[in-house]
Amino acid sequence: MAITKTNFVEMTRCVKYPFLEDLKRDILTSDMTLEEYQSQELKSSLKEIVGEMIDLDEDGNLVDKTDTIDIQLEAMLPYYKEVEIEAAKVVEKQFGGISKFAESTYDQELYDTNINGIRYLCYIDIFNEVDNKKNIIEVKATTSNAFASLGYKKDEIDYPLLKKIGNVYHLADLLGEEIADPIKYQNARNKLFNRFLDGKYVFDLAFQRYIIEHELAASNNEAKLSDYHYYLAVLNHEYVFPGKYEDGKPVYEPDLLGEEIITFIDLDQITKEFQPIIDDLRIRLEKCLLADNMTNCELGEYCCYKKRNMCKYFKPVCGSLIPEHHSSLTFMRNRGIETPDGKLVGVELINHGYLNMLDIPKEYIKNQNHLIQYECVEHNEVYVDKEKIKAGIASLKYPLYHLDFETFPCPMPRYRGEKPYTQSVFEFSLHTEVSPGVCDKDKDNYVFLARDFNDCRLDCVKELVRLTQKPGTLLAQNVSFERSRIKELANIFKEYKEPLMRLYDNYFDLIWLVNTNQELYQSLGFTKDEASRVNYYDKALDGSYSIKKTLPVFSDLSYKNLDVKNGTEAIVTYANYDKMSVEERNLKYESLITYCKQDTWAMVVILDALRNL
Ligand code: SF4
Repeated sequence: MAITKTNFVEMTRCVKYPFLEDLKRDILTSDMTLEEYQSQELKSSLKEIVGEMIDLDEDGNLVDKTDTIDIQLEAMLPYYKEVEIEAAKVVEKQFGGISKFAESTYDQELYDTNINGIRYLCYIDIFNEVDNKKNIIEVKATTSNAFASLGYKKDEIDYPLLKKIGNVYHLADLLGEEIADPIKYQNARNKLFNRFLDGKYVFDLAFQRYIIEHELAASNNEAKLSDYHYYLAVLNHEYVFPGKYEDGKPVYEPDLLGEEIITFIDLDQITKEFQPIIDDLRIRLEKCLLADNMTNCELGEYCCYKKRNMCKYFKPVCGSLIPEHHSSLTFMRNRGIETPDGKLVGVELINHGYLNMLDIPKEYIKNQNHLIQYECVEHNEVYVDKEKIKAGIASLKYPLYHLDFETFPCPMPRYRGEKPYTQSVFEFSLHTEVSPGVCDKDKDNYVFLARDFNDCRLDCVKELVRLTQKPGTLLAQNVSFERSRIKELANIFKEYKEPLMRLYDNYFDLIWLVNTNQELYQSLGFTKDEASRVNYYDKALDGSYSIKKTLPVFSDLSYKNLDVKNGTEAIVTYANYDKMSVEERNLKYESLITYCKQDTWAMVVILDALRNL
């Protein structure tokens, strides 16, 4: 058996995972039919699990239900590859010497070791060698922002955990810095050891160190351990693309302040301290692999519920009994419900048997908004605070500019002034409502959409400014997203800064009318308690005020029959422009227009429905 880095990261999530993985592999590689397997080999309790993981398609072939494709990830793959290429260039500048990486003429460096008959192996993204010194560099298409933000506050002063010297972040304590608050510093440092949150990339690198050190020990080369140094290479969140191109492609030279597009995190010390943790996980994994029966375990942080790295077994297997609607996981902003078993948050409620919201005794619910949710489900009724909705609507200044941007969060900045992962605007839809209820779906709408990957931002800004000349209110669902894009554009196209910032300054979030906004409603004369209470709740919202949830509550409009149905599909459609024939691209162009137009029309319809309440 061989275990790669990715396998190890997944298989050590919990004690149940390796068993499920083994069971699935067993069935998928067996000659038996699914029914035979279920009836002959498995205890009845496992039949259900098998059914949840494996299914039959129309032709009777076995289908792995846990094997889902992330379409956005696929569309982004070429850009992730670019991150590795740029990282290799910056590594050579930073460290000198010779580097091996996948895109060079050499293959990636491989390390492997055998422990108790199991082969553990890992490929090194960039192996850099300078004299005796070997730099092990793991490239991640994330930004340095999360690392740079780690730290603590004391006496209103922010102290970072990591300090940047040149182009490398180091732990402040290793730089001989005086630590203002050692306990808070240690708490921030401990976050790097949380392999499911801040330490998830560190964990990958620590596993590589584990393999390397075992391989060196097995070949009696322990004396060389100190030659190795461990770094993450990530996108520099401070880098601003100066806008140089060669043959139509961006050239990522240092920016105007000398920042490189890639920066490094020195993790020598942290990966060293991680080694006993990896060793324990390896021992536990081996025990699980040898065990005949599944060791069950509760749901936990390791499931990464609702995160990008959510365990593939959560939905089909471990969390399959969680009801689709009105489960205890749908309490909004749940920071903990006090029960006799203690304060329970998220999946802890499920572990304690509270699958449905109504499974929780009502007297445990103390948060007023949770109680509203609970009672709406309990009595099948809708909660409405008409006074607050009325006051909120009355505070709007017309014309209303219902605006929605579609953006491409490209890891590599594509246009002048962009940073890594800038939400690069390629489309907007605007519905202008001149006075209450006066807005025509077609006549009062304008959609701007890029036809190709050329920089269209100036045209986009010109159109936006032209259409929003009259002072009014920018209205959007989650307006902070639209405001951030407007501000970014205003900083790049300074000649349009004034009108763009006027739009930026006068805003309203549609969500405040259905959910709430404490500050706004207090300013409109409501008490703190009233202002923090939601304005509207229908059990169909299931704890979410996203447009996908609110739209069916307030209208018959639906995205179901659209070709492009959501933001992810919009990104993927745009990202695939150059893979399409002219005819296909024209069709998809229209689909993107229809989708974005529907987003702003949905806002007009929801506002109107609220007005009619
Ligand atoms: S969903 Fe959670 S409990 Fe189930 S296998 Fe995955 S990590 Fe383990």
